[in-house]
Amino acid sequence: MKNDTYFMSEALLEAQKSLKENGIPIGAVLVMDDKIISRGHNRLIQNDSVILHAEMDAIENAGRLNHEDYKKCCLYTTLSPCPMCSGAVILYNISRVVIGENTTLMGAENLLKSNGVEVVVLNDVRCRDLFLKYTDDYPEIWNEELKKVGNTTEIKNGNNSNR
Ligand SMILES: [Zn+2]
Repeated sequence: MKNDTYFMSEALLEAQKSLKENGIPIGAVLVMDDKIISRGHNRLIQNDSVILHAEMDAIENAGRLNHEDYKKCCLYTTLSPCPMCSGAVILYNISRVVIGENTTLMGAENLLKSNGVEVVVLNDVRCRDLFLKYTDDYPEIWNEELKKVGNTTEIKNGNNSNR
């Protein structure tokens, strides 16, 4: 039985792949029955996309699963997932999300939890350091992305007690 750290290392490989493509280094893998069924990374820059976050890319790359299979899935992502990606997790009833870290950017973790998704945060320094280095090296790209989303990737209902 492989563990969360193993699968997070695979998600991190995806993040590094994105960086090599001059993209934002966030990666994800979707795991079912202890096997990686799809992989993804952030493609906003590479594909000139507005929706291909790492998590969306991984979910898309898994193809069209059936309801029972989605329920067996666990999504690993190097960074706390935004409301869009959390929404896709909730919509397809993915039951568990493992997050590399949420100190550089907090996502919609409360939205996941309040919809019954099991959320685990690993506080993986490898994920944090890779992302921090990127935002330090390319502040203009990252700040532009943040500005697009109103400077927050948390839920936007005014009840943001994520921390
Ligand atoms: Zn997202």
